[in-house]
Amino acid sequence: MSARPVVNLLLVDDRDENLVALRAILEPLGENLVSARSGEEALRALLDQDFACILLDVQMPGLDGFETAELIKQRELSKAIPIIFLPAISKEERHVFRGYSSGAVDYLFKPFDPEVLRSKVAVFIDLHRKTAEVKRQGELLRERDVAAERKVSEDRYRQLADAMPQIVWAADGDGRATYYNRRWYEYTGQTVEAAGEAGWKLAVHPDDLPAAVARRDETLASGEVFEAEYRFRAADGTYRWHLGRAVPIRGTGGTVDFWIGTATDIHDRKRTQQAQRFLLEVGELLGTSLHYIDTLEAVARAAVPAVADWAAVHIVDEGEVRQVALAHFDPLKIVFAEELQIRYPPNDQSAVAEVIRTGKSQCVGELTDAMLRQVAVDELHYDLIRELGLGSFVCVPLTVHDRVLGAITLATAESGRRYDETDLLFAEELGRRAATAIENARLYQEADERAQASLVLQSVADGVVLVDKEGIVRLWNPAAARITGLAVEDVVGRPIVEVVPGWDELALRIPVADDPGTGRAETTPVELDGRELWISGSGVELEEGIVYAFRDLTEERALEQMRSDFVATVSHELRTPLAAIYGAALTIRRPDFELDEELHDHLLQVIAEESDRLASIVEDLLIASHLDSGKLRLALADCDPADLVTGVVEAAGLHVPGNVQLVVDVAPELPRVRADPNQLRQVIGNLVDNAVKYSPDGGEVRVAAAATNGGSVRFSVSDSGLGIPAGEQRRIFEKFYRLDPNMTRGIGGTGLGLYISRELVRRFDGRIWVDSQEGEGSTFHVELPSAAQSRRKRSAVAS
Ligand code: ADP
Repeated sequence: MSARPVVNLLLVDDRDENLVALRAILEPLGENLVSARSGEEALRALLDQDFACILLDVQMPGLDGFETAELIKQRELSKAIPIIFLPAISKEERHVFRGYSSGAVDYLFKPFDPEVLRSKVAVFIDLHRKTAEVKRQGELLRERDVAAERKVSEDRYRQLADAMPQIVWAADGDGRATYYNRRWYEYTGQTVEAAGEAGWKLAVHPDDLPAAVARRDETLASGEVFEAEYRFRAADGTYRWHLGRAVPIRGTGGTVDFWIGTATDIHDRKRTQQAQRFLLEVGELLGTSLHYIDTLEAVARAAVPAVADWAAVHIVDEGEVRQVALAHFDPLKIVFAEELQIRYPPNDQSAVAEVIRTGKSQCVGELTDAMLRQVAVDELHYDLIRELGLGSFVCVPLTVHDRVLGAITLATAESGRRYDETDLLFAEELGRRAATAIENARLYQEADERAQASLVLQSVADGVVLVDKEGIVRLWNPAAARITGLAVEDVVGRPIVEVVPGWDELALRIPVADDPGTGRAETTPVELDGRELWISGSGVELEEGIVYAFRDLTEERALEQMRSDFVATVSHELRTPLAAIYGAALTIRRPDFELDEELHDHLLQVIAEESDRLASIVEDLLIASHLDSGKLRLALADCDPADLVTGVVEAAGLHVPGNVQLVVDVAPELPRVRADPNQLRQVIGNLVDNAVKYSPDGGEVRVAAAATNGGSVRFSVSDSGLGIPAGEQRRIFEKFYRLDPNMTRGIGGTGLGLYISRELVRRFDGRIWVDSQEGEGSTFHVELPSAAQSRRKRSAVAS
């Protein structure tokens, strides 16, 4: 039996001799006596000790006994302590009553009997001890119950934890595992011995371990909830994603007693996430390039190792299945098609060909040996994968609108992953997206080509026309509209025979080839709207109809015509004087014929004049060709208009017919002009010659020179001859252009005079034009800046 515990007794008295007396009386009880010299001191003592009984003096300075007792009774912890009052001064009822009302259990008036005091106190001590014993017994009982209960609930929790499909574990405050539930052992295949304190570390995927350990160290230090995602290795060697969570369980002091952890399988969610992320990535890839082969290669690369260890894309190209992308995961590196050089044998039995033929996906849980041979980089690799297990395989078609464009193959090998239905759905989605991208790229390319083709058609100078099998015009480009004068909207959609009169006959003359590029163009005239067009055209027969391309050769044709006219004119022009010269020379040389002097002179004059005419024709041709080649020299000088006009008219006067009167009308004091005097003389001389020439019935030819308001000088040559129709007044200045090329009126010429005149006047910074009424004569004007104006202009240009 244990020793009887000592109890405390509190003795309160302000006088030392009283305290000493009390101690002496109570000493024999063998308890712990605590003295206090005031009410305050007594209260303080009560704060940290329990007492079996309090002996309280009544008369004390400060708090008296009654007041102290009241305070003691107010405190929960001390209110049950019996108080014995020790009053000295009065035995009156009043005091006794006050003593009881303030919580006293007894009174002992001083001087008291030691025996009585001791035995009273002993009763209280005894009582105190018994109460304490009862309390202790009760506590003991309760503790025992709690322990039993705790055991029951622990067992219950353990059973619960074992029954859970989740992995559950517990660890001590330092993170050492103390418990794993049954699921843990089932999943990992670990034995209880192997699991030990750090079994979880063996199960976490090596790639995920550093992050998990770091997070665990953090939470161990901070006491926060632990959370991390990692792959746990299953008993069969495959890995599945788990979400690990551990919550700290704290004791009463607030320190972490232990940790309760769970690991939830989030593999499917994680894989869906990965797949979604991958699809997103692929979506971006597919959107970036319109070159779909590049894109498909990028897709294959992105698939490894995100969703596959091996990925390939095949497409159907002109009826043949062609592998366009291949990516492979190697434990050490990722290798790509170029390095691999693996090819699917063009074998109809192969899964890819089958998928492409049927448009149906294939999901094979396990690779066949033949497939593995294609997946493996070399023998060593092949052996490795074989040992790990063969992996699995998904092949889905790339389908758009029921058309199979190709197939995507995903395979797993060394990662040990197995494809299932979810993966198949994912791969099919990938296939759909890739197929749409291919289709888009193709459509875009076609649209682009069409757009470019249409741009070309819009801008080419050649007319391009499509006439369909029914003879309806389907295309009529702007050049076709320009050349024919028929607007697109009036033509497209209508039968070509209605649009182009005489089409049937015309179509026979335009050669049509079967093959673009082999056609040969034919030049032929077409009558359109009363206009004659010369077109050079050819056609190509296509599926949609016939495409005709043609160009307008009307102008070239006209030029050609003009040239041949010119040759005729010039030869005629040359032949006439030559004939005259030849005739005159023959006559002079005739031995049988005596020429009188007058005739002899006349013939010599003919020879001289006609030679002159020949020379001037040749001169004109020379000047024209020099003008064309830019070789004509300019010798500019200040010329006096009056002198010039007089000179020209005098020279002309020598050979004008009798019915023509030459009149000079020069204003006085004209400013000088800057020009090459010989060339300017030729210009005015030519105008005068023409005026005489084209006045077959004679009349007045007036040569005038006057100043204009602007300070320039204007030369004008007027006649009352044939005149020029309004529509031709511009064209007569063109090279070789003549109003009457066939000389029906018998007036010869080369059509070069006015062309040369215009070019020369241009070089003097002047201009030339004509005012004329057909049948009523013409006035040709040449306006030149004064020499002073020319100089100002030149210096302005120079500065
Ligand atoms: P050519 O006189 O040698 O034919 P030109 O260039 O001098 O060549 O003239 C071109 C054409 O302009 C002439 O063929 C003629 O038809 C017309 N022409 C020129 N001058 C006159 C004129 N004064 N009156 C009427 N027609 C003219």
